[in-house]
Amino acid sequence: MDCPQCRGYKLEPKEIEQGLLAGVCNKCEGALLSLMNYRFWNDQNQPSLEAGEEIEQVEDSSNAKTCPKCSRFMTKFNIGSGESNRLDLCAGCDEAWLDKGEWRLLKQLDLHNQLPKIFTDAWQRNVRRERQEQHFKTRFEKILGTDDFDKVDQFKDWMSRHAELESIKLYLTTKIE
Ligand SMILES: [Zn+2]
Ligand SMILES: [Zn+2]
Repeated sequence: MDCPQCRGYKLEPKEIEQGLLAGVCNKCEGALLSLMNYRFWNDQNQPSLEAGEEIEQVEDSSNAKTCPKCSRFMTKFNIGSGESNRLDLCAGCDEAWLDKGEWRLLKQLDLHNQLPKIFTDAWQRNVRRERQEQHFKTRFEKILGTDDFDKVDQFKDWMSRHAELESIKLYLTTKIE
């Protein structure tokens, strides 16, 4: 099979983790991972993250990829709201493409043992919601400055859990002329 990233380079069988075989490209070091292989492996292995490892930036190839098996376009899935990296999946073949370093990134995020979760609607919706929330907060932080924003944010959090929420809102917005 050819690498979906590098023209003319073949994928070769290689372990990306002990006992977990993938098709790896020697040039870009990306890996095509069969989710069936992955599930077998995951049922038997629980590799733990080596202590003290820092999360490092991993480069993500953002171009559209075609599946090396069936030549259809693969779909991109966000790993998480804090990461720009996306994984490619061919749902038909159940094959995932990981760019160089993305397996390591998954381990650092402790997602390596729940990989298929990333490919669910629920996971993707949650990533979008978290990003929107972050975007929303950043906008107000810019307007208010960090100190005041933190005060308002803490207050909002406290208020939202208060039994008399509606009374608090009313008090805040009512002005006696
Ligand atoms: Zn390649
Ligand atoms: Zn395919």
